[in-house]
Amino acid sequence: APPASLPGVVITGAARGIGRAIAELYVERGHPVLGVDLNLPPLMKGSLRLRADVASAAGRSRIARAARELGGVGVLVNNAAYQGAHGGVLDVSARGWARALNVNLSAPLLLTRDLIDLMPKGSAIVNVASVQGMFAEQGNAAYNASKGGLVNLTRAMALDLAPREIRVNAVAPGAISTESVLQSIAVSADPEQTRRDYEDLHALRRLGEPREVAQVVYFLGSTEASFLTGVILPVDGGMTASFMMAGRPV
Ligand code: NAD
Repeated sequence: APPASLPGVVITGAARGIGRAIAELYVERGHPVLGVDLNLPPLMKGSLRLRADVASAAGRSRIARAARELGGVGVLVNNAAYQGAHGGVLDVSARGWARALNVNLSAPLLLTRDLIDLMPKGSAIVNVASVQGMFAEQGNAAYNASKGGLVNLTRAMALDLAPREIRVNAVAPGAISTESVLQSIAVSADPEQTRRDYEDLHALRRLGEPREVAQVVYFLGSTEASFLTGVILPVDGGMTASFMMAGRPV
């Protein structure tokens, strides 16, 4: 069993992609972990896993019960997201809009409330936002609005939870080499060109790895970051350092 001195960690959206990499890193480093997802997260040594919808009140109360079993929450990572609300301002469906806002913006707030009594002084929350919460993309209105909301919710949470000595920060990843990104490259008309286009969004001219996001989340959740709160940290290979096409000067 992991040493009791390491804080318990709750990670939403832990079944795949970035959330899974975050869960793996905490497990590797010996933390008790609760992985939550709509699909059951993989079995990992020293971790609990739960199938639950963070956007439902019933799901969140099951998460709170499991977190109590974990022995409390030292770090909460709000990573689960709904990315399926396609469309721009004039054509995104009302249903897709509502789901994106519920999962990506409201759930981090409501889950925080449901877990707050399990979070001691010195604990931390890390929200997984996006570069698309800082800038918008054509035809992706619901996702952009939900992540933009999460960026400023992170600041509000930092202020409102500071009296409890709970820190709240966010990461804003660029394009990360996850199943979903690789899939969208694969199904495009010209996958090689699409991959290069994705790579060239970043000054470092490559996609990020899920592990590279996980390492920053780990840092923000740790005592190494004890004077850091209310910060939105881009993990984007220099994408937002440039006003456009960071990797491809014109
Ligand atoms: P993903 O879609 O591969 O994984 C998300 C996981 O969350 C899935 O396993 C899904 O089942 C789960 N999930 C979705 N809705 C849920 C709900 N209501 N309750 C519980 N679980 C739910 O996503 P990813 O690419 O790994 O992204 C993870 C996070 O990083 C998301 O917040 C995403 O917006 C953000 N992000 C990703 C990228 C990228 O390039 N992949 C870039 C910027 C930000």
